[in-house]
Amino acid sequence: MEHKKLKLLLINPANQRRKGLRMRILSTYPPLNLAIIAGLTPEHWEIKILDENFDAFEFETADLVGFTSFTSTASRAYELSEIYRKHGIKTVMGGIHASMLPDEALQYVDSVVVGEAESIWYKVISDFEANTLQKKYKGELVELGGKPMPRHDLLSKEYLFSAIQTTRGCPMQCDFCSVSTFNGCQYRLRPISEVLDELEQLPTKLVFFCDDNIIGYGKKSQERAIELFKGMVDRGIKIDWTGQVSLNFADNEEVLKWAARSGCRMVLIGIESEKTEQLKETGKKLNLNMGVDAYAEVFRKIHRYGISILGAFIFGMDTDSKQALYDRSNYILKSSVDAWQTTILTPLPGTGLYNRMKSENRILFTNYPEDWSRYDFSEPVIVPGMMTNSELADSMRDIWTKLYNRKTVRKQFRRSLWNLRNLKFAMWGYISNYNYYCLTFEEKIRSGDPRYSHWLVSEKAAGKH
Ligand code: SF4
Repeated sequence: MEHKKLKLLLINPANQRRKGLRMRILSTYPPLNLAIIAGLTPEHWEIKILDENFDAFEFETADLVGFTSFTSTASRAYELSEIYRKHGIKTVMGGIHASMLPDEALQYVDSVVVGEAESIWYKVISDFEANTLQKKYKGELVELGGKPMPRHDLLSKEYLFSAIQTTRGCPMQCDFCSVSTFNGCQYRLRPISEVLDELEQLPTKLVFFCDDNIIGYGKKSQERAIELFKGMVDRGIKIDWTGQVSLNFADNEEVLKWAARSGCRMVLIGIESEKTEQLKETGKKLNLNMGVDAYAEVFRKIHRYGISILGAFIFGMDTDSKQALYDRSNYILKSSVDAWQTTILTPLPGTGLYNRMKSENRILFTNYPEDWSRYDFSEPVIVPGMMTNSELADSMRDIWTKLYNRKTVRKQFRRSLWNLRNLKFAMWGYISNYNYYCLTFEEKIRSGDPRYSHWLVSEKAAGKH
């Protein structure tokens, strides 16, 4: 007689502060970590992923419910967990936020997985089955080879991109980033053949490499990146991909050549600032070593291979005056980056920045967990160093309107077309900027301006949000 399978429901929560609008950005990426957990779960479990990026939450029963969350979605995860616990269903939470603040999470969930789950998930499952679920499990930093394939088939079909990871860890330890705390300082590599096998099975032709830096650091990791890209070409894997890199992406033209041949269309580069003093402040060592004067040449080299650049910039650092914010936005428009991600400096738990802000008593919103939903890089949550927080908020609204409006976005598209000499490649930057234009537009709707109120829909009508 076949036994009835146990049911694991995995939930990707969405920030409720950002809900209720008609529009939704195009480039949200799937929760790969839930697909990894699903892949690690034994076969006698039935698994479902409920993804609030696309699905409206509706209670459904399960034997065990698992959550992941970023800091900005943690309060929603807790809220949903309480619903399940009231029904007597055990909940477990992992991911970056719960790993950084396990004791907070344990007030709302039954069990927390701290760190990477691969080494410990089997124990969570077997303890649950034996009715001995523990409160905390500590995952080790493991070798990345020989692990089960992530269950991409369980992720929402509405994602345009598939996500894949080929490396973990970062030695740089920037002040504002929790990657080194979560994934360790050692740059760990997945065997290339396993990455290629997974690439061949992805459900979409658009792929996001979610490594924090797919090129890594040093000659050995450059050679490995070339081998990976060549492998994609040799196996005839035809995808268009984007990923995250550092300025050292342009150090070796072979890397650029093979990245482009394997389908690289756009890279996100953490530029953060065009001035040395902010790079020093944030501990952005790689950019500092290269020097701000080298940026233009790096951009030129990357463009030569038809790859667009999405430059990530931070605003509101301690050494940023109000004028410096406008200087940065002017720099962005004059530089040859094709698209820009412009965020407000936000202290995330597990970072040096958070600890410093806390000890200096400069964190503005501490009504946790509700206030974590504000920590999404779009509003000031700390007292800035050289202005008031409302001056920072007002300046950023002004700057976002300046950077993300139809005229600027179209003008940039024409410049990208000139730099890249290819319509398809230039579209990547255009679409990225257009997404941010939509987000800026959403902010206008949220501001209560009656000119935009017709875009607001009720929570019920939002259904899909
Ligand atoms: S910001 Fe990038 S380079 Fe800095 S620690 Fe994080 S992942 Fe590493």
